[in-house]
Amino acid sequence: MSVAYIHSPRLQQLSDSFTRCQQRASRVHELIVAYGLLDSEKTNTRVVAPRAAQSERLKSFHDADFVDFLLQCSDGSREDDEFQKSCEVYGLEFECPVLDELGEYVLLLAGASLDAAECLVSGAAKIAVNWFGGWHHCRKDYAAGFCYINDCVLAILHLLKKFDRVLYIDLDAHHGDGVQDAFYCTNKVFTLSFHRYTPGLFYPGTGEISDTGSYKGLNYCLNVPFKEGLKSSDFIDVCTVVCEQVVRGFKPEAIVCQCGADALSHDPVEALNITPDAYVKVVQKLMSQNVPLLLLGGGGYHRSNTARCWTSIQAALTHKWPLSGDIPEHEYLDEYGPSYSLEVKESKMKDLNTDDYLKSLTDHCESILSKL
Ligand SMILES: [Zn+2]
Repeated sequence: MSVAYIHSPRLQQLSDSFTRCQQRASRVHELIVAYGLLDSEKTNTRVVAPRAAQSERLKSFHDADFVDFLLQCSDGSREDDEFQKSCEVYGLEFECPVLDELGEYVLLLAGASLDAAECLVSGAAKIAVNWFGGWHHCRKDYAAGFCYINDCVLAILHLLKKFDRVLYIDLDAHHGDGVQDAFYCTNKVFTLSFHRYTPGLFYPGTGEISDTGSYKGLNYCLNVPFKEGLKSSDFIDVCTVVCEQVVRGFKPEAIVCQCGADALSHDPVEALNITPDAYVKVVQKLMSQNVPLLLLGGGGYHRSNTARCWTSIQAALTHKWPLSGDIPEHEYLDEYGPSYSLEVKESKMKDLNTDDYLKSLTDHCESILSKL
């Protein structure tokens, strides 16, 4: 099974400065390289350099005026009241500020996830990975939650050109609200989001269990809202059981998995208490379904732990998991001290998820899926 890995030095450079977790993209990529996971002969992995998307491709989901503004707002030519008002309307403030090179960034980011999807559409690969993507909060007409465009939605729309049914799974600590909204009324895309849900205290406050789609999309959306501190063993149990049930009921022809790493133990957002091994187990379950699989990044605000997590997943994709526990010698080795280990241990965070609560989640999923 061949793997397409999306990377270019320019995409990495832009992602390093646009991601809220600065310089994260380079750490992820260099750790993957250091472990030898891009060795084409040993891992059957092909590095694909993304092309910048044409602006029309962004408009397959996003409103034209929003895209046009994104592409011209960082050229520095206007800073008047009208410009400020537009920034407000399009969500380009607070956590999504207008930065230099924003236009180039969104076109290349969109191109990266579209090219990853194209590898599956053309059959060039069975698995495609874009760790620079996964920006699930952006809406069709405004930026939100560090997400300037929604490359997940763009990639899914491209997959729908070949595949009749696409399953979107969101492992990020935050609800995959932008992707859910985009496909809430269709039965062609099933959205399944696992996330921490503590309204008023944890962003974005949506993704409650009762949101299950509308019109044709009714019962083609599932939310699995965890309380804070969920531990790895329960994450694996719930995610693998629910994913298996959804695959059986929905019969996806392709799967997109957003692997946001902010659910990891010790992440500054303090949401859940998940180890990289648990992410690996869930992704391995998806691999075993034997349908084309697109993996995307997302959140992850502990830089070296995010690199540990996505490197572990990258190894699993080519059956190189488990890796040696010692971080290999490379440019950023000193950032992995004092343990210099690949392992991330669970923290002592309090787990508010009781067995009864978790059972109520899986029971709910089963009852929704029985209606498909
Ligand atoms: Zn997140």
